[in-house]
Amino acid sequence: MKTRPTQEIYTLADLRDWPGVTAGVTPPIRLGVLGDPIAHSLSPQMQNAALAQGGIDLQCARFQIRPNELKDALELMRTFEFTGLNLTVPHKVAGCALVDEMDAEAKEIGAINTVALRKGRWVGFNTDGVGFARAIRSEFSVDLRDLRVLLLGAGGAARAIAVQCARAECERLVIVNRDLAKAKELAAQLQLALAGPRVLGPVARLEAVPWDERALKFQIDHTDLIVHATPLGLNPNDAAVLPSTLWQPHLMVYDTVYSRHRTALVTAATEAGARAADGLSMLLHQGARAFEIWFEREAPLEVMRAALSAQNPYR
Ligand code: NDP
Repeated sequence: MKTRPTQEIYTLADLRDWPGVTAGVTPPIRLGVLGDPIAHSLSPQMQNAALAQGGIDLQCARFQIRPNELKDALELMRTFEFTGLNLTVPHKVAGCALVDEMDAEAKEIGAINTVALRKGRWVGFNTDGVGFARAIRSEFSVDLRDLRVLLLGAGGAARAIAVQCARAECERLVIVNRDLAKAKELAAQLQLALAGPRVLGPVARLEAVPWDERALKFQIDHTDLIVHATPLGLNPNDAAVLPSTLWQPHLMVYDTVYSRHRTALVTAATEAGARAADGLSMLLHQGARAFEIWFEREAPLEVMRAALSAQNPYR
């Protein structure tokens, strides 16, 4: 039978009449990415390419689900025997209270981005941290454990990245956030993991510092990798993430934001002689890890990468 294209975006109302709404859709939709907004998500293109390559007769689709609809959506998707889901903004933290269990890493991060239906129970995972570590290795050919990292942000994505840095026992971690209290709270949580005195010199191994030019100027002299994990740059009118006076050519810069164009942060860093990459590779690797969780087999990474590149002509 020929594959019938799925709707661009499904809603909770569609899930309430799922057999009717999807009558004739083949292969059946049994994977989904849930968010609000969701139109921008490239996950279905990437996962559908992987499913086709693996001969798995399922499809992945986008679901526009508001915060107060997540509980009902998960219940309906359990009834219709979905294999797994990705959760994105704003569901990553709220989802923790709605799944039946969480793996240890997701508990430590306090957020989930991947859910798998196992024997009728929703199990939550977080693949953002692993996806980030794999992305850094592929973009810069380095491991986190050898890096002094300066992390901008303390939200869901930043928490996954910070926990991953701590698990890798990175050389140094500095957390910078607009709301300094949140950065301090995250640093306090990681204190045990980064207790050892690995860094030589006048700086601490783990710090939370304010997002101001003077504090950042000092820290950047003791940084190898800057990671940007706030939504700044998603909107073309957003302010620059960092002032141009702070750039140094020795830096590696990873912008978790991605779009159909090169991000302003990647452009600014590259123009200053630094090495820089956007968040497409993190999207790829967190998605590949999710595929491995859902199907307990290796993900076809190159097929997934090609599907993403087709959406991003500048790559
Ligand atoms: P959250 O809403 O959980 O966190 C937002 C963070 O950004 C907070 O630290 C917040 O600071 C900060 N922030 C928000 N607005 C501003 C601003 N105007 N100036 C400075 N800081 C600001 O979002 P997530 O962590 O889930 O996502 C953040 C971004 O990470 C997303 O927009 C996405 O682009 C990217 N991401 C990419 C992924 C990938 O695979 N490439 C995966 C997941 C996320 P404060 O605490 O002060 O409010």
